[in-house]
Amino acid sequence: MSNCLFCKIIAGEIPAAKVYEDDRVIAFNDINPQAPMHVLVVPRRHIATLNDLSAADDGLVGSMVRAGAQIARAHGFDGPGFRTVFNCNAQAGQTVFHIHLHVLGGRTLAWPPG
Ligand code: 5GP
Ligand code: ZN
Repeated sequence: MSNCLFCKIIAGEIPAAKVYEDDRVIAFNDINPQAPMHVLVVPRRHIATLNDLSAADDGLVGSMVRAGAQIARAHGFDGPGFRTVFNCNAQAGQTVFHIHLHVLGGRTLAWPPG
């Protein structure tokens, strides 16, 4: 989608610090990290929110979660622990309307979230 920030990052029109990519997803460091590791795992295909997923996307979402776990392991956070978050729509704090999995680690994370 032409006016989507993450589509522009995927297209290489806006720079990002990429940490992982495959045929379906890319992952890059969040520009405003909330933990020592804060990576966003993003599907190459534009999907605005979790509400727009269909059963055909189950494999894609699985790839996103597995990529997140692989990135956390590469940082050494598989043992200590890490958090994955999808925000959906305004009340959850979604600001970029191209789905993305936040992967956070490297500090103790409070629960419940704010
Ligand atoms: P949301 O609030 O939609 O769940 O998360 C959007 C995330 O995108 C935020 O954590 C924000 O810091 C990050 N972000 C916003 N603009 C950019 C950008 O231009 N580059 C990168 N790498 N991250 C961004
Ligand atoms: Zn997009």
